[in-house]
Amino acid sequence: MDAYLSIVIPIYNEEENITALWERLSKVLAEHFADPAKPWEIIFTDDGSRDRSLPMLMDIARAEPRVKVVEFNRNYGQHSAIFGAFAEVTGRMVVTLDADLQNPPEEIPKLVAKVEEGYDVVGGWRQGRQENDSFFRTMPSKIVNAITRKTTGVKLHDYGCMLRAYSREVVDAMLLCKERSSFIPALANSFAKRVTEVPVAHAERAAGESKYGLWKLINLQFDLLTSFSLLPLQMLSVFGVVTAGVGFLLFLGLVIYRFMHPEGTAQGVFTLFAILFFFVGCQFVAFGLLGEYIGRIYQEVRDRPRYMVKKVHQAK
Ligand code: UDP
Ligand code: MG
Repeated sequence: MDAYLSIVIPIYNEEENITALWERLSKVLAEHFADPAKPWEIIFTDDGSRDRSLPMLMDIARAEPRVKVVEFNRNYGQHSAIFGAFAEVTGRMVVTLDADLQNPPEEIPKLVAKVEEGYDVVGGWRQGRQENDSFFRTMPSKIVNAITRKTTGVKLHDYGCMLRAYSREVVDAMLLCKERSSFIPALANSFAKRVTEVPVAHAERAAGESKYGLWKLINLQFDLLTSFSLLPLQMLSVFGVVTAGVGFLLFLGLVIYRFMHPEGTAQGVFTLFAILFFFVGCQFVAFGLLGEYIGRIYQEVRDRPRYMVKKVHQAK
């Protein structure tokens, strides 16, 4: 039978957390989602863990038929792991969360309630981020949030929180995106009609270490910038127009100066500069133009669905 609620959890070397996670999760599910008409399922993706995570997950799956484990052959990263699980979901709504218990499973009912209200995407908004998330972990997230807000145009406070809920339609739309690097929260918003946020608690990582270093975050940021906007390419044109404009103004200024002071002689170098500026500017405009075409090719190649039909209405 198809599930009502699917819970998706990416796992990478989380042997210290799996037992506690499973305990707390099954308690929440037993308390809030016991209705047999609304069955739940959990899909773990083992993202190429090198510790005992996979056998532990398989033990859980053997004992509980509502648990599925997707095993990756190697480590592909959190977002790919979530996609791997998305491909297996059967539920009408899908909740994602981290395995390290930073996202308390107890918050799941809140998110589900919002989806039931009719929201397509419900983001968690972490309250009181743990201070011992180091400076190098919180500062980049702030930048990520700010840039995501700019590039996607959807104003959410917290894109980094992976405790999120999606309607199945949005998940199906995301699955149709074949691109390799994608940032799920931003991608989801581009297919959602109604997006909201709910405040969620945020705990310290229960055990183990964060799998994100500065480098992975920078990478994520580039993914974000390049997968959701052509801004960097378009900046080339803007820069070119500005440079050419400055060159042109300088040239005009020199001509006027020349007429006002016909005896002045030492402006040859400046004239050369003005002309150079102008041509450098033109070159950047040309780069920008090329960039614009490349950007369009990029968008075509990604082959994202242009729209998703929810339903076709017709009187019988
Ligand atoms: N994760 C994963 N593959 C990776 C890195 C992380 O599946 O390559 C999982 C990890 O097991 C955890 C979640 O993604 O469940 C978030 O990872 P982490 O806690 O390290 O990230 P942070 O909380 O520091 O953003
Ligand atoms: Mg974490």
